[in-house]
Amino acid sequence: MIEFDIKALLDEYNLAYKDSGKNVSKGWINLEVCPFCNDDSYHCGIDLSSGGFHCWVCNERGFVINLLRQLEVFNGLNINRIIKDFSEGYNFLPVQEELLNLATHSLKKRVFCELPKGILDELPLPHKNYLYARNFDPGFLAKKYKLKAVYNTGDEKFRWRVIAPIFLNNKMVSFVGMSIIREKGIVKYLNCATDDSIISARDCLYNYDTIKDVAVIVEGIADVWRMGDGFVATLGKGMNSERIKLLKEKNPKKVVVLYDADAIKDAYRLANTLHGMFESVNVLELDKGDPADLSPQEAMEIRNTIWSW
Ligand SMILES: [Zn+2]
Repeated sequence: MIEFDIKALLDEYNLAYKDSGKNVSKGWINLEVCPFCNDDSYHCGIDLSSGGFHCWVCNERGFVINLLRQLEVFNGLNINRIIKDFSEGYNFLPVQEELLNLATHSLKKRVFCELPKGILDELPLPHKNYLYARNFDPGFLAKKYKLKAVYNTGDEKFRWRVIAPIFLNNKMVSFVGMSIIREKGIVKYLNCATDDSIISARDCLYNYDTIKDVAVIVEGIADVWRMGDGFVATLGKGMNSERIKLLKEKNPKKVVVLYDADAIKDAYRLANTLHGMFESVNVLELDKGDPADLSPQEAMEIRNTIWSW
């Protein structure tokens, strides 16, 4: 049972949902945007009777409160307090942090990360061509980042994707699948489901093991591919407390935020959060586009600038 008025809550925070129509089962409401995979076609359903949710695209599932916590509008807010405001006439019980942690913990007990069915160690030609077209060297990337691929058979969700494993301390804990087909309705980056990960991709930093004295935070895996060692990607989701904890463990002297040109505000907000945790925290602004769009020459110049600061 959901012990609060979920619809009123979603309305209040302008979170779009549907309670009938395409993709919506009876007794469920579906959010327009899934906060786990960013799919925006109402695939993330909430079962009003059980209080569970499930996204049909990324396969993420759990309690509705886990879903709410993942939504950006509630970042840094006390979700219990928000829910309480919508619980008049319900038997509201605050959800204990320990219980939530337990729920998260039980999802993390895997000992190996499950790669999608049909995984290939060699990039097929269309995957290579896609990378060439984006001005990357597929042979170099495949070797350095241990890239894999799903071609036209195997796990349907990951077909036509480059599979980029996520390593933490040299252990593959999760992965991201990057679509080589850019069409409306296709999610560009699809994370490995939490159930199949050792650590959920949303709590990882991509390229983490290369951090030394300098850590540069970028948004996407292609940004890392362009920029190289010392650059870590938040996988488009920004930093959360788990990611900040990881970063602190490496204790870099210098932290730089290098977000896409359209996310400058987010970059400064993150820098503010990190201020005081590290010796130096800076933002580097791009005039346009994202780091992945830079030429190898421009990328090199930015590296040199950052390391000479
Ligand atoms: Zn999803």
